[in-house]
Amino acid sequence: TVSPLIAGNWKMNGLTHSLDELSELARLLTTGESPRALVVVCPPATLLAAVAAQGASSGIIAGGQDCHREPHGAHTGDISASMLADAGAQYVIVGHSERRTNHGETDQIVCAKAEAAIGAGLKPIICVGETEAQRDAAEAESVVSAQLAASIPDAAEHHEVVVAYEPVWAIGTGRTPTLDEIDEMHNAIRARLVDRFGLSKGESIRILYGGSLKPQNAREILGIGNVNGGLVGGASLLAKDFYTIISAV
Ligand code: 13P
Repeated sequence: TVSPLIAGNWKMNGLTHSLDELSELARLLTTGESPRALVVVCPPATLLAAVAAQGASSGIIAGGQDCHREPHGAHTGDISASMLADAGAQYVIVGHSERRTNHGETDQIVCAKAEAAIGAGLKPIICVGETEAQRDAAEAESVVSAQLAASIPDAAEHHEVVVAYEPVWAIGTGRTPTLDEIDEMHNAIRARLVDRFGLSKGESIRILYGGSLKPQNAREILGIGNVNGGLVGGASLLAKDFYTIISAV
């Protein structure tokens, strides 16, 4: 079985003073019982180097929130995977639903970004998830399967990647699927990974759950068999809440 991973996605939140929350998280992680999960914090790019430097002594790993598919060049406002690595990141989120929706990122673009991340020595956290309409139409599993097939690069066979299942309708809404629905989807994702990459590789890929993961529901959700950790938005902004989620593993 794979070791769990809890990643915090700060999204477009965080100024210099947010590093106080990071210090508090570091304090909780080093004074309490040592966490069973790997802890990753994905701040905005402006804080990435500080998070990497400040988190190192408490085992907090820094991650980016997105990267460009190209290694460098004329792409104003974008950031490359090697820039993230250079700033101290070890992971990068790709294909978050907010990127897919707000920036028109297709599975093909997400796949290229994941490939670029691997090329720069980063571990991509590849996000998938259905909309509410797709779930209502009983298409959740087929939508997610298609996203997986097209968003995970072949390079994943020989490199570490992480999959994050984030139902779009659960992000920032306070709503989550039922435990049975999460169990079913994570089992389906596991089956697709094993189909494609074989048993040993397919079972070694972490599948995170994301979408309104909170201190109150973390223990139940993170206790599900094929849930290998979580991708946490809002609740990762407060050290106390994020630590409670980490401790629920
Ligand atoms: P919330 O935890 O705020 O629902 O966000 C989830 C998410 O999108 C993490 O990437």
